[in-house]
Amino acid sequence: MSTEDLGSEMEAKCPVCESENTKITQKILDFPHFPQMWFYNLMCSDCHFKYNDFINLAVNEPVRYGYLAENKDDYTSKIIRSSNGTIRFPSIGAILEPGPKADGFITNIEGMLRDFQGKAKFLLRDATTEEEVSRINNFIEMIEEHIKNNLPIEIIIEDPFGNSSIIPFDQSKLKKQQLSQAEAEKLKTGLMIFGGTDRTSE
Ligand SMILES: [Zn+2]
Repeated sequence: MSTEDLGSEMEAKCPVCESENTKITQKILDFPHFPQMWFYNLMCSDCHFKYNDFINLAVNEPVRYGYLAENKDDYTSKIIRSSNGTIRFPSIGAILEPGPKADGFITNIEGMLRDFQGKAKFLLRDATTEEEVSRINNFIEMIEEHIKNNLPIEIIIEDPFGNSSIIPFDQSKLKKQQLSQAEAEKLKTGLMIFGGTDRTSE
C-alpha cells in the first residue's frame, strides 16, 4: 500500500464545539486493486473530538460488497468502513449501522468480529434476565468459534456513497453490486462532515 501525504492546508471547524483549533490530516491510500482512497482525520484540541473518514475517489455510486470468508487468509481481508457504511454478518445476525457519531475505520474480518464480541460483552453488563444473559453469551461464544476455527462467514458492506469497501484476500471471491436508489435510501447514514455547508459559507 502506498500513501501520498496531502498535508494539512485544509481548515475546518470542529463539528462539536465549533472551535477552529483543529488539526486535519489527509492522505491518499492506494490499496492493491483498490486505488485512490482518501483518508481524512480531524482532531479538535479544545474538546478532544476525533473523527476519521474515508472517501473512495474511484467509486461514487451506492454499492454492496459481499465476501465469503472460509479460511484463515480470508479472515485477514481488510474492511474499510466510511462514516456511512453498514456492515453485516447475516448468518450470525450482527449488524453495524452508521449513527450520529459514526466515523471511519480500517480493520479486517477477524477484527470486525472481535469488535462485535466486545460490544456484546459490554451489553452483558446491563443484561437483566437470565434469558438475555444466555442469548448474549451464545453470541459471544459463536463469534469465538468462528474466529478460532475460521468458520465460513459472509460479510456484507453497503454504502450509499460508495466510500466503504472490502480489500479482499482473494480478489476473485469479492462480489460487487450496485444498489438501486430505493435500496440506497433505506440505508442509514452517519455524521457528514463533508456536507459542504460549513466550508462554502465562509
Ligand atoms: Zn471541538
